[in-house]
Amino acid sequence: MLQALLETLDRDARQRNDWGQVASYIPELASIDPAQFAISVCTVDGQEYHAGDVQVPFSIQSVSKVFTLALALGRLGGRLWERVGREPSGRAFNSIVQLEREQGIPRNPFINAGAIVTTDAVLGQRAPRETLGEILSFLREAADDSDVHINEYVARSEQRTGDRNYALAHFLRSCGNLHNDCDRALGTYFHHCAIEMTTVQLARAARFLCGGFRGHRMIGIERVRSINALMMTCGHYDGSGEFAYRVGFPGKSGVGGGIMAVVPNVASIAVWSPGLDQYGNSKQGTKALESLSKATGWSVFA
Ligand code: GLN
Repeated sequence: MLQALLETLDRDARQRNDWGQVASYIPELASIDPAQFAISVCTVDGQEYHAGDVQVPFSIQSVSKVFTLALALGRLGGRLWERVGREPSGRAFNSIVQLEREQGIPRNPFINAGAIVTTDAVLGQRAPRETLGEILSFLREAADDSDVHINEYVARSEQRTGDRNYALAHFLRSCGNLHNDCDRALGTYFHHCAIEMTTVQLARAARFLCGGFRGHRMIGIERVRSINALMMTCGHYDGSGEFAYRVGFPGKSGVGGGIMAVVPNVASIAVWSPGLDQYGNSKQGTKALESLSKATGWSVFA
């Protein structure tokens, strides 16, 4: 029944033919065809269901912030919260205005400023290459798949045009909340955002956040709870309330059009459609998750 449902969601997305706009501020992503859709679900009893363009790797972008957060919490524990908050920002992912008011402590680890800080925390004093290796290893282990890579063109394309993120990083550094220099921290950040995965790989990679047959083997239950809470409240930036209302379980979006979502103790989900809504979240991806949630009763609020 789940398989038939996913196929319906795929068909519906294509029939609506209302894809939204692809992110154009990263030149390498601007040329992607918006008329694509894929969805994958892994249930905690070990079953998998897939529909649509599930073999096409896409740029996971801000979805990668979940994995850096997992590693940063592992490294710093509760001390991470001295450097980054846990409140929804109510602002765009790349917003700069709150940072001055809050003296260089970003609102949460999923807006860009917060993710630059968590990347800096994971980096510590190590080389970017080593840190990126650690992030990739974590993802490969979570997905049970060694075929997960960084797209260098996307990383460089963003580095060349990333003035806004440079502004955020310089401001953070002026407040003493960036320990590496801006190039080093951002180089690492742009590279983990440029990781490419399919929905099959991403849904598998999210299993560590939803319990079940893999349990919470990769990280402890406390960290799982923290990450899921933050995905619920902050995972879609200024569209987070709307996502909670329409979908009703934790999820993290990226401007590549991916959304990774978790139904605790039930299933992990990845959906991808590169056209975005006004908040920079996948338009058809969100719509599909909304329909999936209604059809299955998976909202945590139900
Ligand atoms: N790499 C992107 C940026 O920093 C990530 C943003 C996103 O996916 N929302 O702008």
